[in-house]
Amino acid sequence: MGIAKRAQAIKPSPTLATAAKAKAMKAQGIDVVDFGVGEPDFDTPENVKQAGIKAIQSGFTKYTPAGGTDELKEAVLEKFKRDNGLQYDKSQILISCGAKHSLYNIAEALFDPGDEVIIPSPYWVSYPDQVLLNDALPVIVETTEAEGFKLSAKKLEQAITKKTRALVLNSPSNPTGLAYDKKALEDIAALAVRHNMYVISDEIYEKLIYDGFTHTSIASLGKEIKDLTIVVNGVSKSHAMTGWRIGYAAGPKDVITAMTNIQSQSTSNPSSISQKAAVEALRGPQDFIGTMNVEFDKRRKYMVERLNKIKGVSCLMPVGAFYAFPRISSLFGKSLNGKVVKNSADLATLLLEEAKVALVSGDAFGADAYIRLSYATSMDSIKKGLDRIEQMINNLR
Ligand code: PMP
Ligand code: GLU
Repeated sequence: MGIAKRAQAIKPSPTLATAAKAKAMKAQGIDVVDFGVGEPDFDTPENVKQAGIKAIQSGFTKYTPAGGTDELKEAVLEKFKRDNGLQYDKSQILISCGAKHSLYNIAEALFDPGDEVIIPSPYWVSYPDQVLLNDALPVIVETTEAEGFKLSAKKLEQAITKKTRALVLNSPSNPTGLAYDKKALEDIAALAVRHNMYVISDEIYEKLIYDGFTHTSIASLGKEIKDLTIVVNGVSKSHAMTGWRIGYAAGPKDVITAMTNIQSQSTSNPSSISQKAAVEALRGPQDFIGTMNVEFDKRRKYMVERLNKIKGVSCLMPVGAFYAFPRISSLFGKSLNGKVVKNSADLATLLLEEAKVALVSGDAFGADAYIRLSYATSMDSIKKGLDRIEQMINNLR
């Protein structure tokens, strides 16, 4: 008896684990500043909530088609056309229980044992584990700060083998907040087409961009790359709907059909109520996003400026998402109260225990020289948390 090898090979999501730890400390009455959680602190817009309430009141509370309602798929089609210049057929859309679920369905639909999947690091925590859960091999390709944490065509080409099945792209990126411009995507697309590999493009932070950055979907760069790309997106971040669990994927019909079959044998449809709310999120007024971004933008600038003023810490200015990803490796070897900081996990633990600040260590994202702070929390908390971090780091000897 025992646990299957594939389940033994994975760990719980470190970001969710950090969030749970901070919540548990708060519940004990400890005054924790939480930079760990990766979800908007804004409430779901009222019109979206009302759409959910209406769905309940009108009895829209039964199974829907496993791959989502026609109504929501149509709203998603409109979104792709409006925002990305992408034209799909309804048969090329799947609605899932969050973007994470769409990503998981892709992994199940595409990967055979031994397939290689290229994942640039720093990466979002779930990509390697979802690959491992399907007996495939994550091939981690490190990107550097000097490269703006972006995978160059050269590094990508070096990582491609006969076994390469797919590349995972995430722009804007969690955890770095950096994003690929059109030219960088064109170079990657050309290689993907030449080597006939899939591109899994996680665009969940598409709407959270600053400094006038323009988001480009790699799928919009031509028919050949569109036929190889599965775009993943959702309403969790754009409409502060993390708990509603609605994400979606668009891609080649055979891939989407396989994903839909997997979903029909595993979760069935995403919540009917949430689907109605997501239709309103996609079709209703979009000014909520602008309001949220103005606030995120202020916090982004403040947090990054403060981080760069702390001795031993340096941070690039992100252009998207709601994370700062400062380098902290120059603190390695220092200690506080006899506790030595050997790596990013040690620093995160020390910050939680001594400074009561929760954040995620860079090793969770394959980049041990860094830590991740989410600025999806109030300005007051950001000020308080940065004061605490600064003070603790200044006390390291
Ligand atoms: N991709 C990235 C890069 C994310 O940060 C998240 C947030 N957890 C997801 C996917 C999953 O989002 P969802 O809540 O829609 O599952
Ligand atoms: N995307 C969020 C984060 O990275 C949510 C946590 C998760 O889904 O793992 O913190």
